[in-house]
Amino acid sequence: MAAACARSGRDPASVALVAVSKTVPSERLRLALAAGFDRLGENRVQEAADKIPALGSAEWHLVGHLQKNKAARAVELFDVIESVDSLALAVRLDRLLGEGRLSSRTRLPVYLQVNVDADPAKAGFDPAQLEAQLGAFLDLARLEVRGLMTVGWLRSGGIEARHTFIRLRELSDRLQGADGRLGSGLSMGMSDDYEMAIEEGSTLVRVGRALFGERPPTA
Ligand SMILES: *Cc1c(COP(=O)(O)O)cnc(C)c1O
Repeated sequence: MAAACARSGRDPASVALVAVSKTVPSERLRLALAAGFDRLGENRVQEAADKIPALGSAEWHLVGHLQKNKAARAVELFDVIESVDSLALAVRLDRLLGEGRLSSRTRLPVYLQVNVDADPAKAGFDPAQLEAQLGAFLDLARLEVRGLMTVGWLRSGGIEARHTFIRLRELSDRLQGADGRLGSGLSMGMSDDYEMAIEEGSTLVRVGRALFGERPPTA
């Protein structure tokens, strides 16, 4: 990460790391926390519910699709939800927060997930749809929209992923220009492409396998 920052003239402090710990057992995560990892990412609410109460003391990010019927549990467990992919979900999160399920904070940080290149394998908003609905997200008083999130072309690691990241940055610039309430965060980059994502402006990389090793094939 530091090398990618140096190559692109960026301050290393401007890029944060989420260690994506899905499928990694709690015993190993205890070691990761002891080693100084302070942001962990999970993609399933149930798995997170088994781990978070026992491990505590990290900033927990939800990076996977959130079903509406798990939204209440997610609000209790996670510090940041990176995978908001519909207005209905955002409205539900905002309402749950209003019902007082959020003890210590006033606004829940979220990212809006964008499918910038209409990849059928990925979740997220179509850019035009997001542009049309942006004001409605930013009106939700209990959500802090930190920025946009995307997934590169899976495991391509090549030019296609770079284009995805460039498009997300350009979309973010344009939407921030249209509505100054949108945060400037860009969550992009995974094990195979985080360096490229940093070169293209990522502020948050989500890295799993490069830290913890390959996951079991079913995960
Ligand atoms: C699993 C996952 C990651 C981490 O992927 P790696 O290839 O293991 O680095 C990042 N983001 C999301 C949304 C994921 O589901």
